[in-house]
Parts: sequence; C-alpha cells; structure tokens
Amino acid sequence: MQEQIEKIKQGALTEIGRCQSEKELEKILYKYLGRKDGQLTAILRGVSELPEEQRQTIGSLANKARAEIDQALQKKKAGMANAGAAQTGYFDVTVPGAKPTTGHMHPLTRIRLEVQDIFKSMGFKVYEGNELTDLYYNFLSLNFPDNHPAMDSYDTFFIKEDPKKKIKPEERRMMRAHTSNMQVRIMEQNKPPLKVIVPGRCFRNEATDASHDHTFHQVEGFVVDENISIANLVYTQKALLSKIFGQEVKVRLRPGYFPFVEPGFELDCSCIICGGKGCSVCKRTGWVELIPCGMIHPKVLESAGYPKGKYTGFAFGMGWSRLAMMKYEIDDVRLLLNGDMRFLEQF
Ligand SMILES: [Zn+2]
Repeated sequence: MQEQIEKIKQGALTEIGRCQSEKELEKILYKYLGRKDGQLTAILRGVSELPEEQRQTIGSLANKARAEIDQALQKKKAGMANAGAAQTGYFDVTVPGAKPTTGHMHPLTRIRLEVQDIFKSMGFKVYEGNELTDLYYNFLSLNFPDNHPAMDSYDTFFIKEDPKKKIKPEERRMMRAHTSNMQVRIMEQNKPPLKVIVPGRCFRNEATDASHDHTFHQVEGFVVDENISIANLVYTQKALLSKIFGQEVKVRLRPGYFPFVEPGFELDCSCIICGGKGCSVCKRTGWVELIPCGMIHPKVLESAGYPKGKYTGFAFGMGWSRLAMMKYEIDDVRLLLNGDMRFLEQF
C-alpha cells in the first residue's frame, strides 16, 4: 500500500513537471485528486476499512502525498500564469499572489501563554519543570506515605533501572504524574515569599478515552509566605478564571482530598456556557469542576526545610488541556496531541 501511494505521488509529480497547459493541469488534478475517480482519493476513501494498525500510517502517508501533489499543482499553475503574462507583455497586477503556507501556534501553546501572562501580571514567576523525576519529589516529599493507596490514582511510567545498580527506593525514577513534583524542588532552592507557576507535561499510565490521555498538560501553582489564607486562594483563582473566560465568574469550594494539602478543595467555576442556569456541559448543575487546590500541608513545607509554623501557603493544579478544551469547545483530549493537521488548521 505504501509503495502504491509513493508510485501515485511520483507519477503525479512527473506529469505535473511535464505539463504544458492549464487544461492538461486540470486533467492531472482529476486523475489523481478528483472527487469521483481520483487515484489518491480512492486510497483515502479505503483507509477506514484497513486494519487498525495500518490505518494511521497509511492515512497520514496518503494525506501527505495529497498535500504534496496539491502544492505542486498550485505552483505550476502560478508559474504558467506568469509565463503567459510574459509572452503577451501583459501582467495582471490584480491576480492574487501564491500564498506561502504559514504555521501558527498550537492551541495548547496559546492557552499556556495566556495563562502565563495573567499570572505574571499578578507577580508570579514561571518555572519549567523536570519531566523525569523520582519517587521522592513526585510523592514522598508531598506527604504521600510510601506505598499509600492514594498513589494509585497517580499511576505513571517508571524507568527500568539497572538491577546491578543499588538505588534507594526514594530515588526510583519515573515520569512525573503531576507538575506538583516541582513544589518541594523549587521551595528548597528559594526562600518565601514565593509565587510560582509550573506549566508542563504530565504522564499517566491510563487507558485513553475522550477525556483521558497518557500525556496531558497541567499548570501547577503555589504561593508561600507568612499569613497566606484561603481568601488569597479564592481571590487568585477567581481573578484568573474571569480573565481567561473574559467575563466575571463565580467560584465555590467543595471539600476534596489530596495528600499534599490540608484543607483540600475542589474549586468549581460557574458554567460559562449557560451562565449557571444548567446545561449539558455542567450536567444541569450550573457549576463546572475545574481546579483541585488547598492550603499546602505543613509536612510539605517541612520537606522543603522551612521553619515549622512560620509560613503558610496555597497550591493548585489546573488541567491546562481541559482549559483549552473548554475554551475552544474541543470534545476529545486526544485530538490535542495526535498531530492531525485537519484539526490543528481550525485554530
Ligand atoms: Zn452549564
């Protein structure tokens, strides 16, 4: 199948190269890309019937070939128009030029820059994080007792270590399951007052579906200083969400359990689609669950080596993939990372 696609592509490109008139060019277009009996169109149409393991490779190969042929056709056509003009001594300046294809930012990058700007305007620093981390920073320093079942919901990918090397259990390497793996690392290197966000990729050993993927994006944030309270937490989140969605939103806190915060909350935002009246997105409740957060657990501050009782702080983890999905009305998280140009070109 791959050879066949390559053959069709080469055939088309040679014919385009040799072609002398616009009429011939049109015939080539129909022969290869025609909606009814184009050779490549027939292949693309058959992709959905291929066995699953072939579907993606063949599909993307055929799409690439189509784009290449299409580009060659456009180029040739523009070249012919210019040559024609040169022969007659007439040049139509109103003919639109051939547009070079340009890229643009990925929707995730766009959201990230937007979120960073908002936080920077509130005095936060932006840190990049370690994607490869270890048991200590991902779990133990964040008040997950070793072997505690709370780790189950953060199952991730562990690195195969050389059995000859003696590695302490806490140094076992893994891909981070959340951007919170940077909390203690950053606290160890800096003294309060601290206002930090860490946008980054996270990894989970997860069966994928429309709302779960093995790789996703999260923004971790935390503030540590003397006398930081829940009021600071609520204000920061409300200001952030209102700015992102471009309208005043209401927020509410519900109790939630995360080992590294006490008390822990789920922060809900009033549904921006129905304005709180109830719709399918908010499951008729008028609220959308958005940001797990809470006051940093004293044990986490102790892990960072801060004097006992001197500082308090709040932390939150925002699903940045989810934010992009809400903002751009994307219904499948897997679309964000599969590189399908038909999807990406919509932004
Ligand atoms: Zn709603």
